[in-house]
Amino acid sequence: MTYREWHLTRRPEGAPVDDDFALVDGALPELEDGQVLIENTFLSVDPYMRGRMNVARSYVPSFELNAPMDGGAVGVVQQVDGDVVDSTGRPVQVGDTVLHGQGWRSHAVLPGKALRVVETAVAPAQAWLGVLGMTGLAAYAGLLRVAEFTEGDAVFVSAAAGSVGSLVGQIARLKGASLVVGSAGGPEKVRWLLDDLGFDRAVDYKEGPIGKGLREAAPDGIDVYFDNVGGDHLEAALTSLKPHGRAAMCGMIQRYNDTESVPGPRNLALVVGKRLTLRGFIVSDHQDLREQFEQEVGGWVREGKVMWRETVVEGIEEAVHGFQSLLSGGNTGKMLVRL
Ligand code: NDP
Repeated sequence: MTYREWHLTRRPEGAPVDDDFALVDGALPELEDGQVLIENTFLSVDPYMRGRMNVARSYVPSFELNAPMDGGAVGVVQQVDGDVVDSTGRPVQVGDTVLHGQGWRSHAVLPGKALRVVETAVAPAQAWLGVLGMTGLAAYAGLLRVAEFTEGDAVFVSAAAGSVGSLVGQIARLKGASLVVGSAGGPEKVRWLLDDLGFDRAVDYKEGPIGKGLREAAPDGIDVYFDNVGGDHLEAALTSLKPHGRAAMCGMIQRYNDTESVPGPRNLALVVGKRLTLRGFIVSDHQDLREQFEQEVGGWVREGKVMWRETVVEGIEEAVHGFQSLLSGGNTGKMLVRL
């Protein structure tokens, strides 16, 4: 049986181009005792993967050249060899929908402990890559634990029409924020934030300087900044944060394709005078919140209190294009590849 997988063949210089990758055909190995064969149905492409394409010491290893890339995926179990249980101890059976880390390929062969059987009654399988998955937990842990959100806070989140950002704003609203402001690129994204997600204000950063837009949207300042972008968005937030304000530093996508390091925010000195707290975090450090997150956000999803969107590219051949598009704002909500 053959399968297809994406390899990184060259380290990108700046924005990744098609020639940095190759789609490779291979033969699937025979299953060994305790292994499961999965046919992937959705692959996740995520901004952090850009960092893995560089050689750098980081919290997650670099992709090796000419080897399959990995990442989040969901799929359906095709074969099971022996009695297999998943990472939670649940038996794995043919036909189960599973979440695992062998994305960027059509099929995966894994031991049970490397996958998790997921429910598809509350939300479709691919929701476990987004609103109920890694990006959802990043939003939940980042806002509630890292930024120590409390009722009445005025919150600003950047990349607000993305997978993490769209949930951050909705959690803030559901938890009683006094003001929820989001930034996004383009009028359609801004409309989605205002009309569907219940943001109080939304700033199109492509229409004018984000600093001015944020000051107008939150004239009395903000208590919490959830940073997905860095750069000029971080500078804007530092100016607008009130004394003792907090920022959850989740990502800095504005810098991911840089070929040279650039100076940090020009107004960083404000951290001192305003006694600000800027705290970085990695979602995998907050797995202890997963059960609570799934119960609470899963409940909101079931009750229709939380909305999410997907931008889907079709076919494994399009995975790289989906990834490139994600880095330039081609997505609203979670960017996915459907196989
Ligand atoms: P998104 O769904 O938010 O997609 C990325 C978005 O970033 C794009 O849609 C685009 O939206 C925006 N963007 C791209 N380039 C720029 C730019 N130059 N300036 C401003 N905005 C830009 O991705 P995710 O929700 O998966 O991730 C959001 C952030 O969270 C990323 O920084 C990511 O690295 C980080 N992250 C961190 C985790 C952690 O553990 N710390 C876990 C998961 C994600 P627009 O059209 O509005 O510009």
